[in-house]
Amino acid sequence: MNCKKCESPGTVVLRQKDHYCENCFTTGINHKFRAIIGKNRAIPPNEQVLVCLSGGTSSTVLLDMVFNGISMSNHKKLRITPCFVHLIDSVHDKNADKTANIVINQCKQYDFQVYVIHLSEYVQAHTNLPEANSVPANKNEEEFQAMLRSMPVTVRNDYFMKIRSNLLVRVAEQLQCNYIFTAETTATLAINLLSNLTMGRGAQVQDDVSFYDGRNDSIKILRPMKDISKEELDYYIKIKNLHPADQSTFQQNSLQSVIGSFVTELQDSFPATISTICKTADKIGTYNNNQSNEKCVLCKSILRTKSTKLTALEATNFSRVVSLQSPSNADFKKMEHQANYSNEKSMFPYVNDRLCYGCSRNYSEIDDSTLPRFIHDAIQSIT
Ligand SMILES: [Zn+2]
Ligand SMILES: [Zn+2]
Repeated sequence: MNCKKCESPGTVVLRQKDHYCENCFTTGINHKFRAIIGKNRAIPPNEQVLVCLSGGTSSTVLLDMVFNGISMSNHKKLRITPCFVHLIDSVHDKNADKTANIVINQCKQYDFQVYVIHLSEYVQAHTNLPEANSVPANKNEEEFQAMLRSMPVTVRNDYFMKIRSNLLVRVAEQLQCNYIFTAETTATLAINLLSNLTMGRGAQVQDDVSFYDGRNDSIKILRPMKDISKEELDYYIKIKNLHPADQSTFQQNSLQSVIGSFVTELQDSFPATISTICKTADKIGTYNNNQSNEKCVLCKSILRTKSTKLTALEATNFSRVVSLQSPSNADFKKMEHQANYSNEKSMFPYVNDRLCYGCSRNYSEIDDSTLPRFIHDAIQSIT
């Protein structure tokens, strides 16, 4: 079969039917990448963008496409000034230090500098950037691991994503970048979407899985790889002879890992699975019934304001308080007050006050003394 575009022999076969030659394929993917950014008009020209590199397949392709984009000389040029960061994930990646060095070498090949930061930096209120292209000492690992160990695995995975984006925003602030590129693919986003729903984060789906995460007032997270399929990434890596890090991950049993295998196994038999999930996600808007600017301390989502109507959450909370009282001293008014304001008896501590529903549920399952001091203080601070 010949290439759909130029009639040369078509060696790249997408979706089992579309044939392309290698040249038209790579040009097409690069065009698709710039089009996603251009179409959304998300970035004003010549902005500094923090590009987050994990070293994996999608990240390796992203790095190559950013280089191609900014190297173009015509009107198609990607008008951004990229900065690069790699967050060392020694929790999930068995070869974390090796991966960091692979990312440093990948960047060197394009003459880019990359800042390498341990995820454990999260436990400090401030992060000082290390020298570029070097792996810094990991000073906070013990405290970081103790915090993660205190959480059930499902909560830990959920919280981990918040840690990652909080740290990225922190690095972006330091490098004066108003935009961040992350390399999540549709497969990851589909799994995140379903995990979010099960964790009670329905209201945050749009920020967590769409192209644009606008949660932070000044720094926006964009996901320009979201429309590029695994099939396309694999062809791209092979044709351009790129070398992603081999990230062998630790096995764990959690809600997210179960959803992960469910989605990928379904995808094997029904190739439209992931794209259907993601298209559904794009249709979900954010229901914002308030003008509140109060943000969740942990995930930075906008908190719901208390309404006059009794919500399911408040009803559950109230039932719990009532069931904990002995019948003899039942005082309705007092119980109502406890349900709404006492965080010890609440099933949803600090909900809609300091924490969103999802984070409040997580908080109720963790040992809060292991949380970083600055988080602890922010949750318990008195208004
Ligand atoms: Zn062609
Ligand atoms: Zn939250």
